[in-house]
Amino acid sequence: MTPSPGENSFGTAAIVGLIILICIFGIGHADTVSSSKIKRLGQWEFPPSIEICLSAPVTKAKVIEAAQFWYDLGYKFGEIYPQRPNSSCDTGNMNGQILISNYVHKASMPGETILYINDQDQIKWAKIRLEQDISRILEHELGHALGWSHTSQVGHLMNPTLEDGGWDTTSIKNK
Ligand SMILES: [Zn+2]
Repeated sequence: MTPSPGENSFGTAAIVGLIILICIFGIGHADTVSSSKIKRLGQWEFPPSIEICLSAPVTKAKVIEAAQFWYDLGYKFGEIYPQRPNSSCDTGNMNGQILISNYVHKASMPGETILYINDQDQIKWAKIRLEQDISRILEHELGHALGWSHTSQVGHLMNPTLEDGGWDTTSIKNK
């Protein structure tokens, strides 16, 4: 059954277009978090590849490690590779990709993910911006790239603060 316009499979209003998830690791409490229930904003039609821009403050080995974390939770990815010539990092044309780059405009916000979701609740691309390679942050941002929003649950991976976050993956397994 195809959801009617304005609804997704959860029966809530679909969010179509650009979604920016800003994560506030390390700087106080998340005023924006109001719910302990984790909402999945969309899903990929095909496993996304991951391109690591030259500007990204993480190594390929770290990205593979973070992808493996999600793989173990039941998610699949395509190829993981460093920036290539004529790359999405330069062209901005990133359909089907998760792009990892640096964070340029807000040094006090060490992570954010921008998602593009269509009216079928499909994630078409995701761009992760990192300030630096802090513990858990890439795994957390990959969670956004897979469609997961924030939760106020203490100790959970998708809690947006470093102090209150952790490695709990309750409700976000894909199996
Ligand atoms: Zn976040």
